[in-house]
Amino acid sequence: MSLANGRHYLAIPGPSVMPDRVLQAMHRAAPNIYFGALPDMVEGIVPDLKRVARTEGHVAIYTGNGHSAWEAALNNVLSPGDKALGLCTGRFGHGWAEMATRLGAQVEKLDFGRQAPIDPDQVEQALRADPNHTIKAVTMVQVDTATSVRNDVAAVRAAMDAAGHPALLMLDCIACLACDRLEMDAWGVDVMVTGSQKGLMTPPGLGLVFFNDRAVEARAKATAVTAHWDWKPRSTPDLFYQYFNGTAPTHHLYGLREALTMILDEEGLEAVWARHAKLAQAVWAACEAWGTDGPLALNLTDQSVRSHAVTCVHIGMDHGPKLRAWLTENAGVTLGIGLGMDTPEDPESLAYFRIGHMGHVNAHMVLGVLGTIQAGLRALGVPYGPGALDAAADICATA
Ligand SMILES: *Cc1c(COP(=O)(O)O)cnc(C)c1O
Repeated sequence: MSLANGRHYLAIPGPSVMPDRVLQAMHRAAPNIYFGALPDMVEGIVPDLKRVARTEGHVAIYTGNGHSAWEAALNNVLSPGDKALGLCTGRFGHGWAEMATRLGAQVEKLDFGRQAPIDPDQVEQALRADPNHTIKAVTMVQVDTATSVRNDVAAVRAAMDAAGHPALLMLDCIACLACDRLEMDAWGVDVMVTGSQKGLMTPPGLGLVFFNDRAVEARAKATAVTAHWDWKPRSTPDLFYQYFNGTAPTHHLYGLREALTMILDEEGLEAVWARHAKLAQAVWAACEAWGTDGPLALNLTDQSVRSHAVTCVHIGMDHGPKLRAWLTENAGVTLGIGLGMDTPEDPESLAYFRIGHMGHVNAHMVLGVLGTIQAGLRALGVPYGPGALDAAADICATA
């Protein structure tokens, strides 16, 4: 018998669950893209995006996914032959660094593995080893969605300052904007990229690049900025179409408007962060209890380096694929696959699963996912420790 009928819950780390209000806001005829409601709405979206990013800087909106935002950001500040330092704590850190290489940059990578955050001391050393300041940018991911590592952005900035190095700090917040705290200006981030489909609760299709005046200076010196990726007209348009270098992504903008209202004006950003923190603790508490007996283990033992948006769990090759399939077929929940966690014995990262708890998620959704995971473990005869669901409920019960 299957218990999957009912509303399916895609509990993967993006695209995340979209609020019905976001979907309804998109359900409309195409608006006029020259005058009226749509241009007026975009005038309000721009400052609200900056509020979410905690920046007084600039923002450019691209019709595209997170990879587009990656390329856009790099294209504006790096020229072929420039050096960059790519800090890697999982698949996504490598992905961004590799993209910079493809654009002709010489990228040195510092790899901190799959179970540890960036070590700021190593960043400082790497920058001190560049006394002529040939490194133009340092790229890093705040939350690496593959490993669920959350890096300390302010500590990386402090390391760069300690080395007296002028490279730009470029940050990927695609997984975690509006989930994990981000203070773009206070933490000294020069360029930040994100996408619409995770914490921002909007369909995939918008790439966002935020940047400050130091990045504007770097853009002025860059030699290979292309017309489509150029952030200048998009952030300081004379005509409405320049915001998007063409037709506006009309319906995404209506969805995003609704999501920003929910985040900023109704729940409030601090409360959104606090909700994510609490729900993440419930997930960790359950996983830790299960792990006291049997194969299940969180990828990260240190709580302080775990993201509040996504959790990566090791369960072993024998159980990972079966558990994911059981949940989809019998419980109406789909967990994320392992990504970039491959080993020679497990080239497809099947030994891992990931739980997305980003965006439009609440206690009943998270407790539901945890309850059905336990049902799956039981149905499949996978051993697990006791008390997981009680522990998660206890977290949700205390303010
Ligand atoms: C999802 C994600 C990306 C890639 O975004 P796409 O929209 O799939 O291109 C990049 N970096 C991080 C940290 C992500 O979570």
